[in-house]
Amino acid sequence: MSFRLRVFLLTLVVAVVATGATAWFSLRFMAQQIDRSQQEATRHVAGIADTVRAYARRHGTWAGVADRVRQLSVDNNQRIRLVNLNGQVTVDSDNLAKRAARPVVAAPTLINPRPALSLDPRLGLAAAKADGFVLEELARYRRATVYARCLTDVGQDPPPVAPDAYGIPLPAAGPQRGECAVQARDAQEYAQADDSTAITNCRGAADHGACLVQAFGNRVETFAPEPLQLFLGAVDDDAVTLLGRPTGGAIGAVLVLSVIGTALVARQLARPLRSLTVASRRLADGHLDTRVATTGRDEVGELSRSFNRMAEALEGAETAQRRLLAGVAHELRTPMSNVLGYLEALQDGVVPASRELFSSLHEEVLLQRRILDDLQDLTLAEAGHLAYRRTGFDLAELVEVSRVAHLAVAEHGGVRLTAEAAGPLPVHGDQDRLRQVLGNLVTNALRYTDPGGAVVLRAFPLPGRAVVEVRDTGCGIAAADLPFVFQRFWRADPARDRETGGSGLGLTIARQIVLDHDGTIEVTSTQGEGSVFRVTFPLVGG
Ligand code: ADP
Repeated sequence: MSFRLRVFLLTLVVAVVATGATAWFSLRFMAQQIDRSQQEATRHVAGIADTVRAYARRHGTWAGVADRVRQLSVDNNQRIRLVNLNGQVTVDSDNLAKRAARPVVAAPTLINPRPALSLDPRLGLAAAKADGFVLEELARYRRATVYARCLTDVGQDPPPVAPDAYGIPLPAAGPQRGECAVQARDAQEYAQADDSTAITNCRGAADHGACLVQAFGNRVETFAPEPLQLFLGAVDDDAVTLLGRPTGGAIGAVLVLSVIGTALVARQLARPLRSLTVASRRLADGHLDTRVATTGRDEVGELSRSFNRMAEALEGAETAQRRLLAGVAHELRTPMSNVLGYLEALQDGVVPASRELFSSLHEEVLLQRRILDDLQDLTLAEAGHLAYRRTGFDLAELVEVSRVAHLAVAEHGGVRLTAEAAGPLPVHGDQDRLRQVLGNLVTNALRYTDPGGAVVLRAFPLPGRAVVEVRDTGCGIAAADLPFVFQRFWRADPARDRETGGSGLGLTIARQIVLDHDGTIEVTSTQGEGSVFRVTFPLVGG
């Protein structure tokens, strides 16, 4: 599976899980909220039912309940529908709000405004007394009801009612006067005979009390407002579907955005990696100049920079190797050509064989061997494979040893060689290799100093360092050439220097050995006046 695809799938999984979890939590939270508000609504139902029932009891009719229903509907933000037991609609807030009545959902609540008589306070009364009392209660209730209905019809407010001791809602005072009081009285008189018959029919009943309650109820049915069914809510506003179109759409949109975003992220992440892959392939094919674009400070940017550094190092190493090979070939070609030329001349008898000629040929071969030996030393040193046998010794002493070793050569060249060593200068290192370094510096100083000149070796301490200086009054090195002095095969004057037997590697090897001893080597020089090579090493115990 490609990296891009993996990133894509991983990010996608995270995005989908995150979206899903968020959606789930949101829906759960919303469901709880809705549940809570539905409980709240149930509590409303009871309140609405009570208000509507109270209206009928006080007004003795359902007429005019529409205003109350409209108000209740607005206050409770509920659709309210009242239907009688035959299915006829008494009032519907949808119609009041001038819209088509929507189908109802919830099961209805029965609102029965007709009171049931409670005979508890009168239990144990003699039958005749009980009959009289029930008839009276029935008459009071009828008069109050007809009176209230009449007032409602003429647009007046009936007096408030409250259940009396027998559960019958009655106003504080009975009908007073006026047209409605007359109507109430008439109605009562008109029904008197039937009421009386209904009540006295209970005489002889097994349960006289129950029969009276039943008879009372039957008579009430003839004039009190009928029971109604109360419906709240409508199909389209009650059924709250959380995963409805807007929610589902939003989740879908978030998912689509996640997929697109993830694909872009994956592409963005994979692009630099792909260009790195292509670049590595090119590098492996030998195109060492291959580099990748480095953008950003992130890990991928860092990887690109590392890749470029690696490519540069490889290119540098290859260039160095090519230069070394060219240098080696160049260095060896001259002495070999010389030897070859002389050998051919000898073969052809062009030059006579002589001791001098053989000695010259021997010199040339020796030079070749020196170049090869130095080259081997240098290769080992640069690869860190040069073996050092480190011991503690006095550098000042080593300086004196070097002076003595080169005295003969100095004398032969007419150069004064002196040493000023302020010892002891305890150092830790490979004595033979450091002698090699000093030998190289002294040999060079003597080699580039004309007869009559002087070479001075100085050894002295500086804080923490042991310093050795090789100062000569020789030809010096041009300022422009100084940076190249330690480069392999570099010579100020190739022709002359090769004559003197130098390999052009001496200073390069010296520098490597000094660096391997945590030392420093530097040169200052003035052309025509002389040079100073200064080497320092860590002083033991300094
Ligand atoms: P070589 O073996 O040819 O001397 P080195 O690496 O020791 O090679 O020196 C490199 C070159 O540096 C020499 O060829 C010479 O031109 C220059 N050089 C080194 N030491 C001195 C010096 N003391 N005075 C002038 N030139 C020097």
